[in-house]
Amino acid sequence: MSCSETDSATLANGVLTIDVGAVVANYRTLVAQVAPARCAGVVKADCYGLGADRIAPALWQAGCRDFFVALVGEGLALRDIVGPEARIYVLNGLPPGAESAAVSANLIPVLNSLAQCRAWKDTGLPAVLQVDSGMSRMGLSVADQQALLADRDLLESLDLVLLMSHLANADEPDHEGNFSQHADFLAASSLFPSLPRSLANSAGSFHGDRFHLDLCRPGAVLYGIEAGPRVSGIKPVVSLQGRVGQLRDIPAGAAIGYGYQFTADRRMHLATISVGYADGWPRSLSNRGAAWFGEQRLPIVGRVSMDSFVVDAGAVPELAEGDLVELIGPHQSADAVARDAGTIGYEILTNLGRRYHRVYRFSAGGAS
Ligand SMILES: *Cc1c(COP(=O)(O)O)cnc(C)c1O
Repeated sequence: MSCSETDSATLANGVLTIDVGAVVANYRTLVAQVAPARCAGVVKADCYGLGADRIAPALWQAGCRDFFVALVGEGLALRDIVGPEARIYVLNGLPPGAESAAVSANLIPVLNSLAQCRAWKDTGLPAVLQVDSGMSRMGLSVADQQALLADRDLLESLDLVLLMSHLANADEPDHEGNFSQHADFLAASSLFPSLPRSLANSAGSFHGDRFHLDLCRPGAVLYGIEAGPRVSGIKPVVSLQGRVGQLRDIPAGAAIGYGYQFTADRRMHLATISVGYADGWPRSLSNRGAAWFGEQRLPIVGRVSMDSFVVDAGAVPELAEGDLVELIGPHQSADAVARDAGTIGYEILTNLGRRYHRVYRFSAGGAS
């Protein structure tokens, strides 16, 4: 038996709405923000969990030509989505043995070590060189940069098309690390003077022109995530509604949920929402955070379980089983949920589970 759209929405534990029109608007905001630098789109982790198959083609149509993924496997999948002309860069570089797969899909690896440089050199194909400017995560150290310069054979057999590094503290614009990384990156750039340069992620794209260089690499802001105090003009992209699975009234003294982490001190009216940590609704929201119904905040009571959590629905006697409550939306952004959960909006988005009914909107007001 097959389900119609409506049936699948009714059967699902919630509705995840992704406004692709807002992603495109955010991309255009970034293009204007960083011009004349070029603006890439970071589409790793399936566009931060939101669906690269729907979003990446929209970015392409909006003029994006440079796409960053984290993994070779993501690059292979993206090639089928965006077509042969897109430039697809692989941030995490090349695991040993991945070269032929990367070649087959015409991916541009970010070479993060001398070993990766050697493994790629015989392909004769374009690559990015990453230098470590202070994050100690990926890229060539200063000593490795010197070693590469000294190995003319290796250097000359690489077709390097970009020099990049990554900011560790871009979300804190005044952090001293931004300035030292900028300086160290420019020093590396003077060693490889012919290469275009890329340093800024979302937040870094709002740190002023000198951080833009030739290519910016925003991800989070495209998806409506707060990426730093200076970021402005970004539209929300995600809304999430959870279904009320059950309503109940409990007497004073009754406990709620695993571990009896909440005990009612009065008679209470509760709603059990059919969303849990298996859906990316963090267990750290136990006894913290809320859902919303209309203008009413419904506090979470007790522990979040795998497939459900419970809210105090005393303020909304009209709430019915089967109704949808707001989990992410106008009353609480993904970033606000993240603050309650003790994490960042990035983690909320990338964990959004696969059980929701997904709706993609392609223009302001229109749903698909
Ligand atoms: C994830 C990532 C980005 C994008 O970062 P946002 O903060 O999401 O804009 C850019 N560059 C590198 C190297 C990354 O790993």
